[in-house]
Amino acid sequence: MIDVLTPAQRSENMRRIRGKDTKPEMIVRRGLHRRGFRFRLHVASLSGKPDLVFPRYRAVIQVSGCFWHGHDCPMCRMPSTRPDFWAKKIAGNRDRDRRTEDALGAAGWRLLVVWECSLKGPARIATDQMLDRCADFIRGGAERDKIAGNW
Ligand SMILES: [Zn+2]
Repeated sequence: MIDVLTPAQRSENMRRIRGKDTKPEMIVRRGLHRRGFRFRLHVASLSGKPDLVFPRYRAVIQVSGCFWHGHDCPMCRMPSTRPDFWAKKIAGNRDRDRRTEDALGAAGWRLLVVWECSLKGPARIATDQMLDRCADFIRGGAERDKIAGNW
């Protein structure tokens, strides 16, 4: 096979495939860091390896892609090829997310889900506003919350 990718392109591809450091997550990470929050990333010892972990506040933030995690919004549209395959796959992801949320809650962690559609696409909300809501959640006492686009 002829190698058509430069090393930089290849590592960019791998990064995307792994799903870490995706752009929406980076917006949240950079924004909260700039606001003085310190956190750990992808903590393997916690259920679901949450994206951002704030041990001081006993809070975690998960940035979720609308398609993969089956958000009930227009950004989760089934592909026209093999729709059954995708529907099953996404239903499986949703089940796993639910179990993860329960496990985190049972371990005393508060959880905020930031849906991708709040950060990109036609229904996105202003970044500062989204970061304000993240900060309120981190400092506040809510057990669970979510931020989604203005559909
Ligand atoms: Zn969505």
